[in-house]
Amino acid sequence: MTAQIINGKEIAAKKKLEIAEEVARLKTQGITPGLAVILVGRDHASQTYVNNKEKTCKELGMYSLLIEMDEKVSEEELLGKIDELNRDSAIHGILVQLPLPKHIDEKKVIETISPLKDVDGFHPINIGRMMTGQNAFLPCTPYGIMVLLEETGISIAGKNVVVVGRSNIVGKPVGQLFLNQHATVTYCHSRTKDLSLHTNQADILVAAVGIPNFIKAEHVKEGAVVIDVGINRNEAGKLCGDVAFDEVSEKAGFITPVPKGVGPMTITMLMYNTLKSAAESLDRD
Ligand code: NDP
Repeated sequence: MTAQIINGKEIAAKKKLEIAEEVARLKTQGITPGLAVILVGRDHASQTYVNNKEKTCKELGMYSLLIEMDEKVSEEELLGKIDELNRDSAIHGILVQLPLPKHIDEKKVIETISPLKDVDGFHPINIGRMMTGQNAFLPCTPYGIMVLLEETGISIAGKNVVVVGRSNIVGKPVGQLFLNQHATVTYCHSRTKDLSLHTNQADILVAAVGIPNFIKAEHVKEGAVVIDVGINRNEAGKLCGDVAFDEVSEKAGFITPVPKGVGPMTITMLMYNTLKSAAESLDRD
């Protein structure tokens, strides 16, 4: 079997058009969705991510505010800035680009962001709401994966889903979203014994490991849906995922490529969450 490619770039473009239309509609009601991004230090990858977020905001007609802080900024000053943005009615989403310098407590930073503006979906209140199936900001990468499947017409209820990776930002929440949609979910991680025994049960296999080409054909059931979250560089410095694409695509039914798979969905769902926050703020007024 040769897998059908799930084109994240195309699906993201379609979703962005829908978001831009909704932004234009909100503007007629006197509200422009606004996203504030705080960047601490000068990490090259973080700068690229932040620039993309700013660019996408503008493309969709949203207000974007970039706050750059020195690497040596005190935790107190950063928390003060977040507090100021929590009270700023032009800002509907606040994102602090991670990772942060070691002297700053990431947990404290995340918990200082108002849950009503936590468009990354990392605040414990949003995570709890997601787990209990309540209205919440869903974390962008997991949410993007669910939208990719929905747009591709892949059903989830009753499927065996195996997630390799259990980070707080990808692995754990994506498994929870599958569970919310009635899948039977298995988590694998670095202590899992006999990984391929589990992964071979997967109708839908999600790889969020951070190791280039880690998932091989031997890990994959014939015809499975394979979602590759990884963003890695191989020995040649080329961008690659966690899945050995060439061999796995010969066996899988559907597969996301890297790049142009999950990646473009993450930023799209960030924009969606900012729009949602703005729309909900209107309802509260
Ligand atoms: P983390 O490093 O936080 O988590 C990696 C997970 O993989 C851990 O749970 C770890 O297990 C597990 N793991 C490590 N080695 C093995 C192994 N040998 N067998 C099984 N499991 C293993 O990574 P993230 O979740 O943050 O990111 C994962 C990948 O996704 C990265 O490549 C990252 O760049 C990418 N990413 C892509 C995004 C996108 O927009 N497309 C967004 C976010 C991340 P344990 O818990 O036991 O240590």
